[in-house]
Amino acid sequence: MVVRVPDVPDVANRDEPCGASSGGPLHRYAHVADPGSRRRPRFATAPEAHHEPKPLLILLGMTTVLDRLRAGETGFSVEFFPPRDDEEERILWRAVRELEPLDPAFVSVTYGAGGSSRERTVRTTGRIARETTLTPMAHLTAVDHSVAELRNVVGSYAAAGVRNVLAVRGDPPGDPTGPWLPHPAGLTYASELVDLVRGLGDFCVGVAAFPHGHPRSSDPETDADHLVRKIEAGAGFAIAQLFLEPEYFLRLRDRMAARGCDAPLLPGVMPITTPRVLSKFGELAGVEIPPSVADRLRPLADDPAAFRAAGVELVTGWCERLIAEGVPALHFYSLNRSKATREVVTSLGLDRRPAAQVGA
Ligand SMILES: Cc1cc2nc3c(=O)[nH]c(=O)nc-3n(C[C@H](O)[C@H](O)[C@H](O)COP(=O)(O)OP(=O)(O)OC[C@H]3O[C@@H](n4cnc5c(N)ncnc54)[C@H](O)[C@@H]3O)c2cc1C
Repeated sequence: MVVRVPDVPDVANRDEPCGASSGGPLHRYAHVADPGSRRRPRFATAPEAHHEPKPLLILLGMTTVLDRLRAGETGFSVEFFPPRDDEEERILWRAVRELEPLDPAFVSVTYGAGGSSRERTVRTTGRIARETTLTPMAHLTAVDHSVAELRNVVGSYAAAGVRNVLAVRGDPPGDPTGPWLPHPAGLTYASELVDLVRGLGDFCVGVAAFPHGHPRSSDPETDADHLVRKIEAGAGFAIAQLFLEPEYFLRLRDRMAARGCDAPLLPGVMPITTPRVLSKFGELAGVEIPPSVADRLRPLADDPAAFRAAGVELVTGWCERLIAEGVPALHFYSLNRSKATREVVTSLGLDRRPAAQVGA
């Protein structure tokens, strides 16, 4: 079924989300700032929340992320966040429709801390499942959820036709660097969430990985032990947080291999289109911008076109190296925009359908 998406103003083709240039949020989980974030999500009130675990959900016939990653050729995937209003919804759907002809291996939708944002994740992944040819994956976190609530959310995903789940622990709402406080009837680590989701049905589950080490980890080796534990709990693949320079990603892959783990590890990629994206890049990766990157891009900070061209070229070079190293797919953090992702994907020849074209 093909759905026509109405044209949206030029803003849709910018590289950053609304408000970014004026100091608005430019965080992948910006929707955690939902005003209702401390309220119990609506899933909690569903009657099933108090019942015994659902029987196994059988989700036959739907393509899994692993099916796509095992297809052979290097592919790409795209991450979105759930739109907060009608305008964001139109912008997201424009990006979805522009990326669809390039045949991404899958697209994912992040999971926020607030009830309404969480419902929007279910709704958006469900709509992608119903109305596009794309393989959707929904993120899920353990933040502020009891196990019964988590079961309900997973049930909602299954009912919406979503078979792929990225199981991440999440961060404390309000202060992501603050101490982790598990829900009294909830979970503490992502490995437990993997175990839960796998136990609820025939889900394909992925997990998060951190090339520079998770900010709360004592050292990269211990962090790699925890990553491999998530795979052993039943995850089929991992997606990496942003990193500065491919070596960090490749070292993490080596640490996994040294532990006998060959699960697909996808690099997280974000085209560096503005100085603001660059500084957020370092923040998300959890490291200082290295001189090799800063020296190349910072002198161009007052020339937006030159900065964008150099930033996209730099990231494209990293991607070429990663493809040569045999990564199964590149995972693009799109911020709900498609233009820069399409540019990089087509210049790397990762678009699978001949009709794919990069628009203006
Ligand atoms: C690709 C990707 C997608 C993401 N999507 C979202 C999203 O949609 N919504 C959102 O809110 N956040 C998201 N995040 C952020 C993520 O929730 C945070 O980075 C969070 O702090 C860590 O999540 P995790 O799943 O890696 O947790 P865990 O694997 O549980 O790790 C958390 C910390 O505990 C340590 N640890 C793990 N297991 C053990 C153990 N058994 N014993 C002791 N220590 C242990 C780890 O080393 C780490 O320091 C995403 C991150 C990535 C990379």
